[in-house]
Amino acid sequence: MAVRQKLVFRFPPSLVEQPFIYHLVKDFGLMVNILRADINPKKEGRLMLELSGSEPDYRRAIDWLQKEGLQIMNLKQQIIWNEERCTQCGACSVICPSGALGLRRPEMTVSFDEDKCIVCELCLKACPARAMETLLENSE
Ligand code: SF4
Ligand code: SF4
Repeated sequence: MAVRQKLVFRFPPSLVEQPFIYHLVKDFGLMVNILRADINPKKEGRLMLELSGSEPDYRRAIDWLQKEGLQIMNLKQQIIWNEERCTQCGACSVICPSGALGLRRPEMTVSFDEDKCIVCELCLKACPARAMETLLENSE
């Protein structure tokens, strides 16, 4: 069975320069789509990836990454649209780079497609009503 999963990897300064993506592709045969990568001032890394491949390969890769000391979070529910708080101002739909947030026409109401979300968090900063929230879940 094939797996396709968006994940966030957090790793300590000692692991920031390790070639994890190379190993995911070469040793585990996974396809890797880099959604976002950054290193904070404390030199801790955060990498958002979409991994796809066979389920056994995916599970072996996750086991290996966890043994290497990476903290892995499932992205599936990370960004949440709190519709009750939303005032339909439309600010988030203008800045969302992936099209996850958009405007339905002709009603001009906001829609959220979490499958398109790349968890850039721009909408969190843009939303005056604080209707966009993050929720990280540990996976595996
Ligand atoms: S986190 Fe980024 S991609 Fe996801 S809905 Fe917000 S602005 Fe769009
Ligand atoms: S910015 Fe916030 S309040 Fe405005 S439409 Fe988006 S979620 Fe709703």
